[in-house]
Amino acid sequence: MSFESLGLRAELLSAIASRGYTEPTPIQTEAIPVIFEGCDLLAGAQTGTGKTAAFALPIVQRLAEHPPRQKRRAPRALVLVPTRELAAQVSEQMNNFARRVALRSTMIYGGVTIQAQIERLHRGVDIVVATPGRLLDHAERGTVNLSLIEFLVLDEADRMLDLGFIDAIKAVAEYLPAKRQTLLFSATYSQSIKQFADQLLDHPRRIVV
Ligand code: AMP
Repeated sequence: MSFESLGLRAELLSAIASRGYTEPTPIQTEAIPVIFEGCDLLAGAQTGTGKTAAFALPIVQRLAEHPPRQKRRAPRALVLVPTRELAAQVSEQMNNFARRVALRSTMIYGGVTIQAQIERLHRGVDIVVATPGRLLDHAERGTVNLSLIEFLVLDEADRMLDLGFIDAIKAVAEYLPAKRQTLLFSATYSQSIKQFADQLLDHPRRIVV
């Protein structure tokens, strides 16, 4: 399997090559076609498996195929992560792919002043990588418009549940369109992850690597 045969566009293949990736990892080989098909996805994958690129590449490609029509862009993809550290790692990869196709990605997390984030959101972004509590804060203040979200990613969902983010995530989900594609990644699969997935995903395809 090669990145070319996954149907990725030239700008993304060149980004992949410049990162030094020569072939897709198993999660990338399995998840990318499912995401391109438009299905919800429940994926069992640890950190270090290449799961970030497994969702970032197809999301960036789909968004690039349909450029934003609004002048001031509202986000079309939302990635929720448990910690600021993971937000930084995911954001770095997301940005790297997004800028190749002139899309903007931003990072939103708590523990810092909110004003700079409000300004960045106001200027317009396509992709938001966020921790749940601060993102909910923006949603409640009306400083982020979540009504055009097409993709919701729940990254390290088991850690988000362990850290007590379940209510914040469910509250954020209330602001999202019901018609969207939801992708859940978790290192473990427990009864609580199953219940959580039942609430947020629609007939997901399941992958375990
Ligand atoms: P992740 O599981 O997304 O945290 O990725 C773990 C590490 O693997 C990161 O440093 C990625 O840059 C790297 N990586 C992702 N995909 C590939 C690939 N296809 N080939 C080599 N390294 C990769």
